[in-house]
Amino acid sequence: VWEKCLSIIRDIVEWQPYKTWFEPIKPVKLENNVLTIQVPSQFFYEYLEEHYVELLAKILRRELGKDARLEYRIVVEKGSAQRHPATVDMPTHYDKPQTQNEVDFPLFQQNTPVKNPFVIPGLKRIQIDSQLNPHYTFETFIEGDCNRVARRAGKAVAEKPGATSFNPLVIYGGVGLGKTHLAQAVGNAVKKLHPHKTVLYVSTEKFINQFIDHSKHNAINDFIHFYQLIDVLILDDIQFFANAEKSQDAFFAIFNHLHQSGKQLVLTSDKPPKDLEKVQERLLSRFRWGLSADLQVPDFETRMEILENKMRNDGLEMPKEVVKYIAYNIQTNVRELEGALISLLAQSSLNRKEIDLDLAKKVLKSFIKTSSKEITIEAIQRMVCEHLGVPYEKLLEKTRKREIVQARQITMYLAKSFTKNSLKTIGEHFGGRDHTTVIHSCQTVKDLMETDTAFREMLMELQQKVQLSAL
Ligand code: ADP
Ligand code: MG
Repeated sequence: VWEKCLSIIRDIVEWQPYKTWFEPIKPVKLENNVLTIQVPSQFFYEYLEEHYVELLAKILRRELGKDARLEYRIVVEKGSAQRHPATVDMPTHYDKPQTQNEVDFPLFQQNTPVKNPFVIPGLKRIQIDSQLNPHYTFETFIEGDCNRVARRAGKAVAEKPGATSFNPLVIYGGVGLGKTHLAQAVGNAVKKLHPHKTVLYVSTEKFINQFIDHSKHNAINDFIHFYQLIDVLILDDIQFFANAEKSQDAFFAIFNHLHQSGKQLVLTSDKPPKDLEKVQERLLSRFRWGLSADLQVPDFETRMEILENKMRNDGLEMPKEVVKYIAYNIQTNVRELEGALISLLAQSSLNRKEIDLDLAKKVLKSFIKTSSKEITIEAIQRMVCEHLGVPYEKLLEKTRKREIVQARQITMYLAKSFTKNSLKTIGEHFGGRDHTTVIHSCQTVKDLMETDTAFREMLMELQQKVQLSAL
């Protein structure tokens, strides 16, 4: 059959392209009207798809009948530069969704048949596993004041990917506030509403690793080409682009191509795009083309709703007062909120104890960050001395050596912010200095923090140490 096809193609296609694109093809098998052909590279496959798919479809249908189909098998020579290791591993925390017409990154696997049914001519027929967690949907993403804009923008984008002014949609916010969940909800909704669209979720770390892998094999173009085939690209945690210059270049090319072709980009970041450091200005300016929406810490009502919804979905039960206790006390982020719930359930089943307020208080102790221990001036003095390598006694003496003076000032400042002692008491702890010295010290430290980045960083580290010591 293939010979027959070739002879027809030979008549239609010019000699040069015929030689380049058709002669290297090997027919593999013909089964149930599905003809499998072997091509030497992914690029080859793309090129055929791009330029000859109509022709091939027509000829095959004439030879094999209406329901003829073509499958590609990409066989890359061993040891050639064209290796395609860009397989994206499935995250392990959920089962791989088994949809029949999905092939796991087919273009990038050796010897994998690529299904190419001629069903919708003219459309990109690439089928890839979108790497989405099916549980991350809009339905399970509770709306509150903290996320309303972002969630609604996400819904609008999912309804009309690429066709709203929210392109790119940048979702930003602190850790555990739902960036990944919301970004994936967009992807899952697109797949539902627009089944023929190609959606891909990828973390920026993975993107960078794939890029490095491809550049090692001189296959950067393949890498970029592949991403340019996506209809909805979700790139998580773009702050990891910091300092990855070459990956940023590749992403720039991909971004431009997708944006120009009306494809949708959804990005997440742990800070507002304008504050992203070590990311090229040309990228940042493109992020401003669309919409940036932030996620805040949910308020009490929303936290209650999130917990109750989670319990409903997982078929869990516990007394309302306990749920309230968790929602009231965990004010950091949603991940911790869920973590607290799960710990409590685990403790209860381990110790075969009913979940009640007492158990909740015990279990949640480790989650709730109240300063239970009192911080003393002495403790701060010891910490500063250790951190800066200054002998403790020197703090109390009259030494005017610069580093000692600064250590003294820092210690006074920290004592002022972390203890309830009066200025007078603080002064007394430094070999009997008076309160004006303490005031002056605190001011000096504040000034230095404004002007000296290294100093500020050092001080923030110290502050963290002091805070942790109180837990
Ligand atoms: P981030 O990516 O911002 O660090 P995640 O998207 O991983 O945060 O969210 C952390 C956890 O909190 C996930 O289990 C997610 O399902 C849950 N979560 C976050 N926000 C919400 C919300 N509004 N409603 C329901 N669950 C949420
Ligand atoms: Mg995340």
